[in-house]
Amino acid sequence: MKLDLVKLCAGTAVATASFINGGNFASAADIDTVYSTFETYNGNDLEMTVTHRSTKFALWSPEAEAAKVYIYPTGLNSAPEYTLDMKRGDQGVWRAEFDKALYGKFYTFSIKYKGNWLKETPGVWAKAVGVNGERAAIINFAETDPDGWADDKGPHVANINDAVIYEMHHRDFSMHPSSGIVNKGKFLALTEKDARSSLGDKTGIDHLKELGVTHVHILPSYDYNSIDETQLPSNGYNWGYDPLNYNAPEGSYSTNPVDPEVRIREMKEMVKSLHDAGIGVVMDVVYNHTAQNDDSNFSLTAPGYYYRHRADGSYSDASGCGNETASERQQMRDFIINSVKYWAKEYHIDGFRFDLMAIHDTETMNQVVSELKKINPDIFVYGEGWTAGDSPLPVERRALKDNVSAMPQVAVFSDDIRDAVKGHYTDEKDRGFATGKPGLEETVKIGIVGATAHPQVDYSKGNNSKKPYALAPTQVINYVSCHDDLMLTDKLVKSLPEENVADRQRAHKLAQTIVFTSQGTPFLFAGEEIFRDKKGVHNSYKSPDSINAIDWTLKKENAELFNYYKELIKLRKSHPAFRMTTAADVAKHLVFDKVSEPNLISYSLKDNANGDTWKEIKVIFNGSNEAKTVKIPGGEWLVVARDGKIAADGMGKMNGGKVMIEPRSALILAKEK
Ligand code: CA
Repeated sequence: MKLDLVKLCAGTAVATASFINGGNFASAADIDTVYSTFETYNGNDLEMTVTHRSTKFALWSPEAEAAKVYIYPTGLNSAPEYTLDMKRGDQGVWRAEFDKALYGKFYTFSIKYKGNWLKETPGVWAKAVGVNGERAAIINFAETDPDGWADDKGPHVANINDAVIYEMHHRDFSMHPSSGIVNKGKFLALTEKDARSSLGDKTGIDHLKELGVTHVHILPSYDYNSIDETQLPSNGYNWGYDPLNYNAPEGSYSTNPVDPEVRIREMKEMVKSLHDAGIGVVMDVVYNHTAQNDDSNFSLTAPGYYYRHRADGSYSDASGCGNETASERQQMRDFIINSVKYWAKEYHIDGFRFDLMAIHDTETMNQVVSELKKINPDIFVYGEGWTAGDSPLPVERRALKDNVSAMPQVAVFSDDIRDAVKGHYTDEKDRGFATGKPGLEETVKIGIVGATAHPQVDYSKGNNSKKPYALAPTQVINYVSCHDDLMLTDKLVKSLPEENVADRQRAHKLAQTIVFTSQGTPFLFAGEEIFRDKKGVHNSYKSPDSINAIDWTLKKENAELFNYYKELIKLRKSHPAFRMTTAADVAKHLVFDKVSEPNLISYSLKDNANGDTWKEIKVIFNGSNEAKTVKIPGGEWLVVARDGKIAADGMGKMNGGKVMIEPRSALILAKEK
């Protein structure tokens, strides 16, 4: 999520928070000093534990003067059946106990703070919730497990750059009338086998298998705030970057948000179904801010504690959404770590994408990865190495792209390759290397080497980065398009207004060929592979399905493009030379050719790089609108890609020497021995 997307957030006027001393602080750091004295609690019994004999409640609320639990028969619109007074215990935890199992009931907490009872809240650790996430639910989790869940496992991934990541929103993927999917816009959409478009092409999970991606990255799927779950037929759409309950799934993606078990079971069924197809699940997580300020579950349980502030006591706002959380504070850090661990264990999630990751501190991110790897070493973590505004957190502590060397097991999105290949995101008309703009060659090379130190790359000429920020190519996510900003198809319309569809598809193929052959982890936005568009809308966070839903009839029309993607992915997966894991290997095996013309890059992956069966792979990109001639070593080469066509196993032979590379195209050749 980026700065220009702040409209999607709560957008409340920033209030001076009532919880801080009237704002009598010399600096934001003084506020931190106050909170650093708070006792914290990291027990696994927060906030409700149910057994056959009892239901126990435990709320961390160090400044509460009193606390209550309300027990309800339903998730909404009912009076409490019981009210329990909580007792203050150690480490800021209030406790209460009911002497029987309360399965099927709902609960909220309320605390007394500065003489007032605050609004009810389901707490911050509700793992099951009623409709709209207003009340937490007491359920038996064993009953939410699909058949075979105990043996369920995601795909093995030795290194993150073996993954091919497909970013999708549940509604984008299945809502269109042509999808052939029954459970449109639901978790269950990804459980439907044999789905076909109205023109007979594979859709749904079969489409993903056909394409060959290894992981789907689902946009926020925890319980978010913006969609009224009691009004689902009104077909609201939202990306979901407005977190409400971090540890329960979003209700609008379930077939019945009123029943708290349903969303949990259906999300697990989705994971299981993808895993059965050999595909992993990455979850987009947004711990950097909450949808609300004083009314958030964080604020209603421990006012002020979970957020950063300015010296005057107001919420600081590095998220551009009205607040930012404080990962450097122990209870917040533990919350993030425990939350991702919970998703990994209970839902078998295979990876996490951190929104506005630089709002978090590097130490938290390192602990996140190391704890996740203990659960499953195949889990990987990446994020946006930027913030959407300034933060009181010192720059050197932020989980920024520039600081990724302090987080060896974390990857960051490469805005370098993104903006250099297709043109800058802030200017719709701006062109990039693949659309004929000269002068971006060095920045594209930064992408090609996975932002590692390379003797032939001059970082001083980089557009976005001036230093090799990655320790290894496994620290970089390469992409040209995602849910944010103009997607590739739309960007090509805006930046190449004079050109026809065929020409724009040439640029499209070239752009993605650069991404998928570069060192690092490739990432594509759902539907690019069939040339879908979003009608030029760059910030479609709440646009209707008519903008966001993928029209699956395009798969027929753009079958040739789809086939190109399939072969490109197959090429990458078949050849470890594209997936080197160390900077030293890249520096040794990836050798650029001397090319003086603009919009032309030529390099080789040499000497069976990374154990490849091919001795040498020659990769040449021509972003200009004219054919160019390049000189390559003599002998016989296998032609893998040429003039907008690609075949992972090759499509004939050619001899070295002077060869022509057609306009806006990639030429990939292989020397087999
Ligand atoms: Ca919700």
